[in-house]
Order: sequence, then structure tokens, then C-alpha cells
Amino acid sequence: MSLNRRDFLKLSAAGIVVGVFPGCATSANVFGSKKGPRVVIVGAGFGGATAAKHIRMWSGNTIEVVLNERNPQFISCPMSNTVLGGSRTISDLTRNYDTLRSKYGIELVRGEVTAVDPQKQTVTLADGSISYDRLIISPGVDFMFDKIEGLNANAADESVPHAWKAGAQTTMLRKQLESMADGGTFAISIPKAPYRCPPGPYERACQVAFYLKNNKPKSKVLILDANPDIVSKKGLFMAAWNELYPGMVEYRPNAEVRQVNVAGKTLKTEFDDVKADVMNVIPPMKAGAVASMAGVVNVDNRWCAVDFLSYESKVQKNIHVIGDAVSAALPKSGHLATSQAKVCAAAIIELMQGRHPDTGPAIANTCYSMVSNNEAVHVAHVYRYNAEKMVMLPAEGGGVSAKRSEVEGTLANYWLKNILGDVLL
Ligand SMILES: Cc1cc2nc3c(=O)[nH]c(=O)nc-3n(C[C@H](O)[C@H](O)[C@H](O)COP(=O)(O)OP(=O)(O)OC[C@H]3O[C@@H](n4cnc5c(N)ncnc54)[C@H](O)[C@@H]3O)c2cc1C
Repeated sequence: MSLNRRDFLKLSAAGIVVGVFPGCATSANVFGSKKGPRVVIVGAGFGGATAAKHIRMWSGNTIEVVLNERNPQFISCPMSNTVLGGSRTISDLTRNYDTLRSKYGIELVRGEVTAVDPQKQTVTLADGSISYDRLIISPGVDFMFDKIEGLNANAADESVPHAWKAGAQTTMLRKQLESMADGGTFAISIPKAPYRCPPGPYERACQVAFYLKNNKPKSKVLILDANPDIVSKKGLFMAAWNELYPGMVEYRPNAEVRQVNVAGKTLKTEFDDVKADVMNVIPPMKAGAVASMAGVVNVDNRWCAVDFLSYESKVQKNIHVIGDAVSAALPKSGHLATSQAKVCAAAIIELMQGRHPDTGPAIANTCYSMVSNNEAVHVAHVYRYNAEKMVMLPAEGGGVSAKRSEVEGTLANYWLKNILGDVLL
């Protein structure tokens, strides 16, 4: 006999079956009433999965952790640009969540959160509601398609991928490059900062140029940047474009794409109409929708202001926000999301045990960019809490690589292995 989850819940409530539904990622008991202190986490990406693991580990498993995610697997955005260059596939970047359950006893609940009630302290999915003592949301970003005439989520899925969440769109963009004739134009558009992964679009330009140089050398990479200048690692990217891909990469600042003609393969900026064979339009971004559901979006109608000692929202008690959704003068990166997740996890344990969070947290970011198949550059900073301004400020030191190198390319691969282990193993 096969049961669906609803049947299982009914039978389970009637005492007819017990245990975990075979093959299903959801433990049914989380939909009932809570038995002890519980943290619910929405989003099992870089921030959410790291917070889940560290709350269990550092609390000695005394706090129940329910980790919710809509996707069946974890796919890393970091290094996903190398899928376009050809040195990785999406399956190289795909992981499962098994260890979080088996090693740390985290309750994994698969499904889309559709509502949050901060008064009743519940989150709602199709199967029912889950109650929490504290909620962490790490939903990443959503795309503001309404800012670009002619573009919407369907068009992005079907023909004009942003590929800014690694997965099917990344693979599609690679296929579009493979189908493009030699002599064609690949155009990438970059939204105004802040957006997820400041150096990411420039790394992508390098990876696409790497593929084209080796396969379609008469082609061109056109970067349409809404910003007045290159946002990150400027000298290093310019050196890579000029020295590794001479004559192939054209950079245009202040070139915000405002309209897309999908059928006519044209991008409209304030000044030009640009024809492109492959269009990679990265729309402006805001905190993932669950942040609005929870009522924690309070900056520019896009981002969430938090107390940097605990990552508790400035506007909703017992709801914490980490990762890209946070409003801060910090890069929106996976590394920083994991760093914030650990500060948040430690603070929640202190708060739930009646103590005060650490008053001097530090977080760190390292971001490697692959400029070819084997050479990389990096930026790294430590940020410390400034009690007077109540923000995270860069500490002395840090900065960018002196120059690109193969050694950095090797270190970038180790960085990926280590961070995925930190998040998921
Ligand atoms: C091309 C590219 C390259 C990058 N390279 C790097 C790099 O080299 N180094 C680096 O540090 N960072 C890099 N980043 C940035 C990094 O991917 C993000 O900063 C990081 O993923 C942010 O973590 P997060 O937890 O905020 O969001 P995510 O990791 O996106 O996790 C959010 C999760 O929440 C889930 N979710 C959202 N809403 C719901 C809902 N309603 N119900 C259920 N689940 C939900 C989503 O499915 C997702 O799994 C890169 C990004 C891109 C696009």
C-alpha cells in the first residue's frame, strides 16, 4: 500500500502508523504541537543550512531544529559560472541534505512556505503549520522582473536566463553558448548594486570569454553594467579581459537594461538598442518573498534591517534574517551568509537559554573568481561589530589578490570543498 503524506498524517494522528514516512523528507511530527524549544528555519541554502547545523551542534542537541526548503537538493551558485566556461557541470555542484538529518538530527521539511504568522509564531506550508519559538529566514533573493519591460519569470526560464540561481537556467545558458555561431555576441546585463555576488557577473564574462576564445574566437562578450564602474576587483578583471581575451570583451558602464525584446533579441538601455545572440539579463533583486510574508522587509521595500548581534529583525520579535536578504553595507555572498548564520546560531542559543548574545561578533568573507579554467583572483575581509554605529565595519587588513594565478585557482577549489562541508556535512 502506498500512502500520501496527508494520509500518513491522519493515520499517524489516529495512532495507526508511527515513524518516518518512507522516502519522504518530512518528519510528520513537526506539524503537531511542539514538545520543547524549537527553531524553524526557512531556506536551506548557504545561510539556513549552516544555522541549522550549528544550532544543533552548539546547543548539544537541546534545541529542536526544523529546516524547511522548497528544492529537493542543494545547488551551489559559487563556481556555477565555471559551468559556462566548461570546466564543471551542474551535477558537480549538486549535493543532498542527508547528513544534516542523519548526523545532526535536523528535521527536514520539504515544501514552499506560503505564510508566516509572527503573532501565533507559525509558518504555513501546503501540509499544515509549524510552530516556532524563534524563526530564522534565509530565503536568498527574488528577481524584480517588473523593472525590465518585456521580461518575466517565464521568459527567463525559457529563453533569457539570468542563471543567478544555479540550476536549470545555468545549463540552458551553456547550451545557448554552444548553439551560438562563431562571430556572435553574448550580452550580460548587471543590475545596480546591491545585488547577489558583486564580482559574479564579471567572473561570468571571463568564463564565457574563456569558452568563446577556445571554441568561437570571432565572438564577442558585451557587458552592460547599470553601475557607473566595475563594482568589485576592477583592476584584476580588466587585466584578465585585456591579457587573456584581448579584443573580445567590451565593458559599458551606466548601461542599465530597461527593456528586453525577446523575439527580436534586443536589449534597450537609456542610450542604445543592443542586438545579441545570447541574452543573459540579470534583473534587480530583493529579499526572497518569505521575508515580506513575515513582515520583516523594511528597507527600500527590498531588504531586511537586523540587529547585528543576533540577526533578529528590527521590526518583528523572534524572527531572525540572515544571508542575501539582510540590509547591510556588506557583499551578498555565500561565505558571508555562513558567517552570519554562525553568529545568529550562537546568539539564538544564548537567548533561548536566558543569556545575552556576544557583544563583539566578527564575520568574514572570501570570494574567489575564476578568470579562466585554472586561474583565480580573490577578495577577502573580516568585519567587526561597531557598538557606536551598531553596524559591521571592515577590520584592518584584507583586500584583493596582487594578481591572478593558478595557485589561487587551486585555493578556490579548496574553498568550495571546505564551505560545502561547513554548510552540509
Ligand atoms: C553566479 C554566482 C556566483 C557566486 N559565487 C559566489 C562565490 O564564489 N562565493 C560566495 O561566497 N558567494 C557566491 N555567490 C553568492 C551566493 O550564492 C549567495 O550569496 C548565497 O547563496 C546566499 O545565501 P542565502 O542563504 O542568503 O540564500 P540561498 O543560498 O539562495 O538560499 C535560499 C534558500 O531558500 C529557499 N527558499 C526561498 N524561499 C522559500 C520558501 N518560501 N519556501 C521554502 N524555501 C524557500 C531557496 O530555495 C534557497 O534554497 C554567487 C552567486 C552567483 C549567482
